[in-house]
Amino acid sequence: MLYYFSKNIEILTKNNRLGVDYMTNKEKIANLIFPEILETIQDLEKKYPVRDLEEGAIVTRFAPSPTGFLHTGSLFTSLVSWRFAKQTNGVFFIRLEDTDQKREIKGSGEKVLEQLNIFGVNPDESYLNGGNYGPYVQSERKPIYHSVIKEMLVKGIAYPCFCSHDDLAETRKYQEENKLLPGYYKEFAKCRTLTDEEVIEKITKGDSYVIRFKSFGDEINKVDLYDAIRGHIQFPQNMQDIVIMKSDLLPTYHFAHAVDDHFMRTTHVTRGEEWLSSVPIHLDLFEALDFKLPIYCHFPVIMKLDDGKRRKLSKRKDAEASVDYFLEQGYPITGFLEYLMTLANSNFEEWRIQNTEIDLFDFSLTFDKMSVDGALFDLEKIKSICKDRLSYMNADTFANEALKYAKEYNKDFEEVILRDLNYFKSIINIERDQPKPRKDYEKYSDVLPIIDFMYDDFYQDLFQGGLEFNERYTKEFLIEILEEYKVNNGLNLEQDEWFANLKQMAVDKKFAARGKDFKKRPEEFVGTVGDYAEILRLATCAKKNTPNFYSVLEILGKEKVLERINKTIEYLKG
Ligand code: GLU
Repeated sequence: MLYYFSKNIEILTKNNRLGVDYMTNKEKIANLIFPEILETIQDLEKKYPVRDLEEGAIVTRFAPSPTGFLHTGSLFTSLVSWRFAKQTNGVFFIRLEDTDQKREIKGSGEKVLEQLNIFGVNPDESYLNGGNYGPYVQSERKPIYHSVIKEMLVKGIAYPCFCSHDDLAETRKYQEENKLLPGYYKEFAKCRTLTDEEVIEKITKGDSYVIRFKSFGDEINKVDLYDAIRGHIQFPQNMQDIVIMKSDLLPTYHFAHAVDDHFMRTTHVTRGEEWLSSVPIHLDLFEALDFKLPIYCHFPVIMKLDDGKRRKLSKRKDAEASVDYFLEQGYPITGFLEYLMTLANSNFEEWRIQNTEIDLFDFSLTFDKMSVDGALFDLEKIKSICKDRLSYMNADTFANEALKYAKEYNKDFEEVILRDLNYFKSIINIERDQPKPRKDYEKYSDVLPIIDFMYDDFYQDLFQGGLEFNERYTKEFLIEILEEYKVNNGLNLEQDEWFANLKQMAVDKKFAARGKDFKKRPEEFVGTVGDYAEILRLATCAKKNTPNFYSVLEILGKEKVLERINKTIEYLKG
């Protein structure tokens, strides 16, 4: 470490004050490149002090690139990072990594924050609400990167590289042909050997350049990493002189990661496992800069089973890779979060079975219970968890959430709910308020197609589409049944009695009370009680499947039920 920082940085500022003549050549180069930069690493250390947090509190961050929609994997990463910070009374912040300006999609940074907000993942500090460790947008942090690079230039651990694409391609070709490690290192790092005078001349002439980090490492050495999720890992040491500043003066990911996570005082770098292979570079940079190494936590990549094979959930191929997909479909937020928690920690599900009622975030995540070899994304499981969560939601919350969803994604549904919120709630409440609630809905977009017949205009459309009575029954027989039901419908009775009455009427018309009797002796019956109920259901709902029929009739009310039965009789009479 000492080889990097043998000089006291104050000399640099003193020399500046004394004038160019007293400068070393390296200082001249640094000043030529960054004439405006006066702040030193020491100044930055003071400006962004280690955070004053209680013991054990950790600082995590989520660092999206503004390149489009929020990926399901990013929601997972940010949710888990946020939970780790919050459960220790630490800090969670969001930094926008916009240094690849060609790939930037305007507005996507804001969109990501909006979407995270929907899931309750709200940062303590971000590019929207600020904080003491900002700016929180990398392109606005240029002076910080430049201060660090300026000092690295003086120390000789960074240097300008003037190699063109062609120069680099030629080197690569040579390395390939000779089966050598590709890259810019040791003897292949041509610009390492330029004299300071040559560098000054090229810069003065206006030649284009990037800045590279000068690595003192060697591939034959091994370096160790302790990853909070994966334990100890050994890597070959980095020896590449990676680019730290591009010709557009913006930093590369690796360098910005070191500088930002150091000065933003991240204690735990929680990021996707795709960054694991870059760790040797990061270890090299942190050491060279004499920055305290944060704890790395490389999260599993979200995988999907495709034709029996595991592969990464892909932005291009999979609709479910976008968080938008789940929002548009109206999966309940709590159900989706709950699912992501099962992906995060293998013991979450067991905990949930024992703690069904309490907040899911009462569960404390641990790094050692995270999967190391990819988390398998299971759409069926999401559906089943969401169904479960929706069934336990009370009707008020359900209605409010459904309305929120409808407002955003389905205007027709919104209009229907708002016709009469209480009516909507009573429909939603069917078989809900009970120890084992019915699981009718998996997402909010399921609701209207299931309950539409409860509204006259939708009923009318369904009716117009035709009533699919079982062809076994003649029109006359159906009319007879409906006429009788009009007179003796039991609509004033409690559910059990109502059903007993319905059953008796069915039996009187030669429907078998039990399915198995019909199966055994079909010649004795015209069908089952189920078939009988289906006739009534079709007549009153224009559908064969509905939520609990008794509740449906009760909510529709006697008048409407009779009106619909009459309408059906008319229809049958043709
Ligand atoms: N901007 C990087 C990405 O989107 C962030 C990686 C990190 O969290 O350090 O992959």
